[in-house]
Amino acid sequence: MAECQLCGNTDAYIHFGTELLCLDCFNEKMVKKLGVRVTSYPEGVMIRDGQGKVHRLRLRKRLDPIGFIMEAKAEETDGYEFVVHGALDVDQEELFLQLIAKAERGMAELYVDQGHFPNGQSYNTMKNDRLAGRIAYDPDEDVVPKLVVDGKSYTWNEIGKMLMAYEGFQIKLETLDSSDEIKWQDKR
Ligand SMILES: [Zn+2]
Repeated sequence: MAECQLCGNTDAYIHFGTELLCLDCFNEKMVKKLGVRVTSYPEGVMIRDGQGKVHRLRLRKRLDPIGFIMEAKAEETDGYEFVVHGALDVDQEELFLQLIAKAERGMAELYVDQGHFPNGQSYNTMKNDRLAGRIAYDPDEDVVPKLVVDGKSYTWNEIGKMLMAYEGFQIKLETLDSSDEIKWQDKR
């Protein structure tokens, strides 16, 4: 992990001009610049998904010239990730609650089920004939992405195999900004 150029913390990941800073130092700089006080919040939360599995999400709040960005990100790579944005004068407590509520809703429906062939080999199916997730870079593929669904990553090929069961069906595909929320018309 990279070292913060101001405090030496080893969790630096924010580029600020020519400096690489940790979140605390970045927030502190922004507070001085924008005159907004950053209220404290928990380091992390544990949320159960629709099947009762507990996921640990790390919380981060960042103050930017445009406002607050708060994210909840699973500790494991390619896990759940939720983001909310708020204006500079947003009620930060409220923003935190919005983030948690968004994460809970986002983890309520699980999309992929694992089945097993008689020979023991496993296969994935789309439980409710639909799928939502996050597009992520796949270092093994380079030209096609992988999708993070249910807090787990699936290769483009695995997604394709799941779709094979729907040959002849129609499909709709829509991309949304990370701060938007995926909503379905009906609950399944
Ligand atoms: Zn620092």
